[in-house]
Amino acid sequence: MAHVAVVGGGPAGLSAALFTAKNDLETAVFDTDETWMHKAHLFNYLGIESEDGSGFMEDAREQVDDFGVDRHQGEEVTGVSQSEDGFTVATEDGEYDADYVVLATGASRDIAEDLGCDFTDEDIVDVGVSMETSVADAYATGAMVRAEEWQAVISAGDGAAAALNILSKEKGEHFHDFDVPADAE
Ligand SMILES: Cc1cc2nc3c(=O)[nH]c(=O)nc-3n(C[C@H](O)[C@H](O)[C@H](O)COP(=O)(O)OP(=O)(O)OC[C@H]3O[C@@H](n4cnc5c(N)ncnc54)[C@H](O)[C@@H]3O)c2cc1C
Repeated sequence: MAHVAVVGGGPAGLSAALFTAKNDLETAVFDTDETWMHKAHLFNYLGIESEDGSGFMEDAREQVDDFGVDRHQGEEVTGVSQSEDGFTVATEDGEYDADYVVLATGASRDIAEDLGCDFTDEDIVDVGVSMETSVADAYATGAMVRAEEWQAVISAGDGAAAALNILSKEKGEHFHDFDVPADAE
C-alpha cells in the first residue's frame, strides 16, 4: 500500500515526495510528464544560476528515485476518491490505496474538484500554509493553489510544506527535516 500518493510529478509533487520518502513514508508519484518545466529555463531558482527546465526535472527525478520514491512515470490518474480508511487513487492501469494524497497537477484542478475540495472565489483550490485542503489528509500544491503567481521555487516550497504537515501528523509532533554536514560524510 502506498502510504502517500502524489498526483503530478512537477516541482511541487516531486518536492513533496522527496520529503515523505526521505522520512520513511511509502510514497508513490503518478505523472504524465506535461510539466511546464519543459518550457522553462531557470534563472530565478535560488541556488541555481542557470538551468534548462528539462535538465532540472531530470535531476529532480534522479534525486527522488535515490530516496526510494515509487515513480509511476507516464501513468495518468483518472480520479481520487475517499475510502473507508483513506483514499483510492484510480489510474489507467489500476487502483491504489493511500492514507494521504498530495495533488500537484499544475494548473489543472479537476481531480481536486471531483474529490470535493473547497475552492476560493478566484476558483483556485483553497488551502492554508500547510497546503491541506478542506478534505482531511488531502493536500493541494503548486500552480493549482495560485491564481497566477506561478514559479517553480514556490511549487517546490508548497510540496515541502504539505510533506512536513503529513510527517507532523504521522509523528504526532511538529516535525522538521534537518541535516548537518556530518550527515553528508
Ligand atoms: C514558458 C514558460 C516559462 C516558464 N519559466 C519559468 C521560469 O523561468 N522560472 C520559474 O520559476 N517558473 C517558470 N515557469 C513556471 C513553472 O514551470 C511552473 O511554476 C512550475 O512548473 C509549476 O510546478 P507544478 O509542480 O505546480 O506543476 P507542473 O510543473 O505543471 O507539474 C504538474 C505535473 O502534473 C502532471 N499531471 C497533471 N494531471 C495529472 C494526472 N491526472 N495524472 C498524472 N499526472 C498528472 C503533469 O503532466 C505535470 O507533469 C514557466 C512556465 C512556462 C509555461
